[in-house]
Amino acid sequence: VYDIGTPEHSVVTTCAYCGVGCSFKAEMRGDELVRMTPWKDGRANRGHSCVKGRFAYGYAQHQDRILKPMIRANITDPWREVSWEEAISYTASEFKRIQGKYGRSSVGGITSSRCTNEETYLVQKLVRAGFGNNNVDTCARVCHSPTGYGLKTTFGTSAGTQDFDSIEHTDVIFVIGANPTDGHPVFGSRMKKRLRQGARLIVVDPRRIDLVKSPHIQADFHLPLRPGTNVALVTAFANVIVTEGLVNEEFVRERADLDTFHEWTEFVAEERHSPEATEAVTGVPAHLVREAARLYATGGNAAIFYGLGVTEHSQGTTTVMAIANLAMATGNIGREGVGVNPLRGQNNVQGSCDMGSFPHEYPGYRHVSQDDTRELYEKLWGVPLDPEPGLRIPNMLDAAVDGTFKGLYVQGEDIAQSDPDAQHVIGGLKAMECVVVQDLFLNETANYAHVFLPGCSFLEKDGTFTNAERRIQRIRKVMAPKNGYGDWEITLMIAKAMGYEMDYNHPSEIMDEIAASTPSFNGVSFAKLEELGSVQWPCNEEAPEGTPTMHIGEFVRGKGNFVITEYVPTDEKVGPRFPLLLTTGRILSQYNVGAQTRRTENSRWHEEDRLEIHPADAEDRGVRDGDWVTLRSRAGETSLRALITDRVAPGVVYTTFHHPNTQANVITTDFSDWATNCPEYKVTAVQVAPSNGP
Ligand code: SF4
Repeated sequence: VYDIGTPEHSVVTTCAYCGVGCSFKAEMRGDELVRMTPWKDGRANRGHSCVKGRFAYGYAQHQDRILKPMIRANITDPWREVSWEEAISYTASEFKRIQGKYGRSSVGGITSSRCTNEETYLVQKLVRAGFGNNNVDTCARVCHSPTGYGLKTTFGTSAGTQDFDSIEHTDVIFVIGANPTDGHPVFGSRMKKRLRQGARLIVVDPRRIDLVKSPHIQADFHLPLRPGTNVALVTAFANVIVTEGLVNEEFVRERADLDTFHEWTEFVAEERHSPEATEAVTGVPAHLVREAARLYATGGNAAIFYGLGVTEHSQGTTTVMAIANLAMATGNIGREGVGVNPLRGQNNVQGSCDMGSFPHEYPGYRHVSQDDTRELYEKLWGVPLDPEPGLRIPNMLDAAVDGTFKGLYVQGEDIAQSDPDAQHVIGGLKAMECVVVQDLFLNETANYAHVFLPGCSFLEKDGTFTNAERRIQRIRKVMAPKNGYGDWEITLMIAKAMGYEMDYNHPSEIMDEIAASTPSFNGVSFAKLEELGSVQWPCNEEAPEGTPTMHIGEFVRGKGNFVITEYVPTDEKVGPRFPLLLTTGRILSQYNVGAQTRRTENSRWHEEDRLEIHPADAEDRGVRDGDWVTLRSRAGETSLRALITDRVAPGVVYTTFHHPNTQANVITTDFSDWATNCPEYKVTAVQVAPSNGP
């Protein structure tokens, strides 16, 4: 029980964690934040919250925060506190020196899904207009970049198709590669409510997530597929739908590109894609696949919800497109209750992608090679722009190792902790001559940095976040920046010192520029957000109050595009040396690598990550519950304690990755999605052996 006294005033703002985007009232007594309470008028959460959001303010006020800029010439030197003027001028002079010596493309920037839309827009503008190249990327690279590519290719736009309210009209909930009750708890609760009202449930997941069986809920189907076989399984669904005559012919005739549809039906109808033929690949009994596919196609309004268990694979993009094919073939798209819904892990993954933080796209997903768009930005920003796509994060690191990429500005992201094959990431960072980290804490990446710029917590920010349902919401400044400057102002200072001045007095003016230059944001302004509370893009002349459901009547690209989805097994294979497959996930009380939640009350509820292992696999290895084990892959090894459970199937092990000492990314490989380089975090061949601990 907390005695908080009487709050004196409150500010409504948005949670800084997951893609649900819950609204909160930050209650203050003087300058002190005493409580966060979920806001009843928040459209994404309607007065609900989870245990992460309620205590998020803890990390914002944590003693570990760094509040003064620091520099050092070499990463082995101690940090030296300096003034903002010195830190910014050192950053700019180093970047200019590097570009003078190694060329314009030798520097770049990385932004984060924790940054606001306005901050992200400025980072990509700094890189494109100030650095003069397109070497900008975002942490969405390692989570939902396949969503962007896959949904744009099939439907024409890189976003989920529905609003959260749509689930009230859903009859069949199909969850694949997501764990909503832990990862997106407030929306997970809405799912459970709908299930208690009688909606049917299909879960595709190697692990028995809570949704499969919880009080008053029992999934109609749990298909525990072998990690890495999503494409084979979803294509088997398509095989059933086509060969059993379950296609929604009228929808397809009116809405689909018929050439691609016919090619696709011929492909999926091949016997090799049947549930029986793919059973040996997926490990899922054919009759379950057949019955689940029938339910999806004929059970009424069917909606697909997916997460990183779909995207973080060598065929992440292919699975996204396979899912989109299913929705189009059955007519489950373009109205309430249906659709394809990526559950975004971080609060502003959607916004980060929308704002052009990819090396090949301007804001609004327009390719840098498009002359009309590039000319628009050349006029707006007053400089010539590079028509060639820049480097993605893994390419930046490769180029650093090769000696051609030497300077990096990282805003709000910890690539040394969260990107795959940590040894390679560290090798790349060490090879650079100027790494600038802007963050709250001295994170793992800061170990290899030359400049540390203290960033702002969500309580000190003004701007907008865009949640998983494309809802743009205000994040309001609850207290003054503890470091003296907003993150957006820091980017402006770097730009000015680099010789490219950007002139804004407030984040609302940045949004005005975004709206003026991005068709899907034309109608967005801070004034409208104050008036309506939030809006879902597209928000423009045709939809002045936003768009809850997309693709009504017509897909954004015109006709829906069916794509052939050939299953290609990952190169990460089990064998005698590495006989088990490791997959990863999250728990309710923690968020991502735990840098924030471990610095809040939530640290009480999760002291360590454990390795879930099936009783048969544990017995084979002489491992008892709670024993230390060594987890070893081709890339590296780590130690953690075993948790023996039949939640995972024999042959599969599972861990969360919320504690830095787990070092999950030391063992993940550098295999990645063929289209987007999204890392294959969800499949790693490993061996497990008893050990004495770290
Ligand atoms: Fe809502 Fe997600 Fe924050 Fe929980 S973590 S309060 S579900 S936005």
